[in-house]
Amino acid sequence: MLFVSCSFGRIFVIKSAYMDSFLKKLPLLAGEKARETRKYFSRLKKRPPKKLDLLMQDLHHKVFERINCLDCANCCKTTSPLFTEHDIRRIARHLRVKEPLFIQQYLRVDTDHHYVLQQSPCPFLDLQDHACSIYDVRPKACKEYPHTDRRRFVQLTSLTLNNTAICPATYEIVEALKKELPL
Ligand code: SF4
Ligand code: SF4
Repeated sequence: MLFVSCSFGRIFVIKSAYMDSFLKKLPLLAGEKARETRKYFSRLKKRPPKKLDLLMQDLHHKVFERINCLDCANCCKTTSPLFTEHDIRRIARHLRVKEPLFIQQYLRVDTDHHYVLQQSPCPFLDLQDHACSIYDVRPKACKEYPHTDRRRFVQLTSLTLNNTAICPATYEIVEALKKELPL
């Protein structure tokens, strides 16, 4: 494993060769930290510092300089994005199918009444090279995942806690946040 230094300390670089084994360990690692992370987010929500969004954006960019999503694709393999009406219209047009047919073929309605994928891994994911076949028109939720650089991050802490067990970048960003901003 390679190590580098950055503003939030000594961190490891995840190379593609390590990604598979890291992903296998991730739920356990995130689970071990879950209680601490939950408490941390609870303190953060009580008094969010003004610089929080900027700090999160900085950490997000630093971590994604080291982690290549094409080495991972764990979000596309294990979870479903939400599909908005705009997403459905755009993707159906791109695939040259009618919207009802696209919905019938790929989507279902979840318990929160959102359109989600019928299956995982996502049918638009190439399992060999992890490319997304509808990348240019992919759902907004895919574009924004894992949401760690979003404005008003403090409103996304529950989602982020869940994502620490799915997304290695989120796990790293959250651990870096705890070090950069001890509470
Ligand atoms: S649409 Fe593309 S980016 Fe979104 S989950 Fe599927 S493969 Fe991943
Ligand atoms: S967003 Fe996270 S889970 Fe998805 S491919 Fe990138 S590193 Fe992996």
